[in-house]
Amino acid sequence: MAILITGGAGYIGSHAALELLRRGFDVVVVDNLSNSHEAAIDRVAELAARPVPFHRVDIRDRAALDQVFRTAPIDAVMHFAGLKAVGESVGQPLRYYDNNISGTIVLLEVMKQHGVRTLVFSSSATVYGDPASVPITEDFPLSAVNPYGRSKLFIEEMLRDLCRAEPEWRVALLRYFNPSGADPSGRIGEDPNGIPNNLVPFIAQVAVGRLPEVAVFGTDYPTRDGTGVRDYIHVVDLVVGHINALEKLAAGPGLVSYNLGTGRGYSVLEMIEAFGRAAGKTIKYRLAPRRPGDAAECWSDASRAERELGWRATRGLDDMCRDVWRWQSNNPNGYA
Ligand code: NAD
Ligand code: UDP
Repeated sequence: MAILITGGAGYIGSHAALELLRRGFDVVVVDNLSNSHEAAIDRVAELAARPVPFHRVDIRDRAALDQVFRTAPIDAVMHFAGLKAVGESVGQPLRYYDNNISGTIVLLEVMKQHGVRTLVFSSSATVYGDPASVPITEDFPLSAVNPYGRSKLFIEEMLRDLCRAEPEWRVALLRYFNPSGADPSGRIGEDPNGIPNNLVPFIAQVAVGRLPEVAVFGTDYPTRDGTGVRDYIHVVDLVVGHINALEKLAAGPGLVSYNLGTGRGYSVLEMIEAFGRAAGKTIKYRLAPRRPGDAAECWSDASRAERELGWRATRGLDDMCRDVWRWQSNNPNGYA
């Protein structure tokens, strides 16, 4: 079975490519490298001991994407390509809508033209907006509070409309909580551009000496230690969830949606402490005001995925920190 991976040079896409190759799938990667490095693909090929067909293509480029579908038989698509920085999306909404939404429309049209109607889509817990309570189930009301979140929500709506109009489609919406971790080899991992926005890569860069200290955003939340609580999920568990979703889609057409999370939350201070343990260092931090727009707590009820996909996260906090540290300490400057 051959899987087209859009955004396959990126953080999650590269781990998905590796896991698929390890399980004997064929993969084809397309990525425009707007937020990634071709070196990630080379390392996936090295780890899998198999060549990885790679096309440097923007998914909005219909002719180029069409050509990719002509060069290899493709059975299904895992669609990771997208821009993902919330703050940037507020300043550049049109760029986000064009890249994420127009890109997805072109992809769906080209898939259709080639008779490929199986799609696993990278959605996000951001589609739950500011949830009224935790844990979050898939039935919670959907909303979005910034252009990035709206781009995910619109794509979900588009896919629901498509499946209603053309019931032969098979679509899985996977709503990620906080992906973290890296392949245990330490050869591939998350390599954000510039100063990281997300907590774990920020802590990792403090640990390796690239940044001086972590700012803990908010200490007066109604949580066990006053800092924000999130559901951090190991990227390898996350990509395994995608493969289980593909198997589910093989059983019949329709649209399904799943939370991919661990079902438990950790606070910012717990994350800093766990990472320090993994790295054998004290991570310097300072307490800072809340970051605007942040919820106090966000964690999943992932029982639907367990029930229907036979999937649950098996890697814990210490595995996650250990694997991020191995990646970061072996590659202090990422792929550069
Ligand atoms: P990433 O930026 O590392 O990977 C995305 C990849 O897509 C990059 O390699 C980028 O170059 C590529 N890309 C972007 N626009 C493209 C286009 N028009 N054509 C071709 N390639 C394009 O991000 P990631 O963390 O691996 O995220 C993957 C997906 O998961 C994204 O859709 C993201 O929104 C979603 N997601 C991520 C998180 C997270 O915390 N990492 C959480 C929820 C959802
Ligand atoms: N956070 C923090 N310092 C940072 C980055 C994040 O204290 O430098 C906190 C943030 O307020 C939230 C948690 O860490 O409570 C996770 O934030 P992240 O940006 O990684 O993910 P998201 O906000 O998307 O859940």
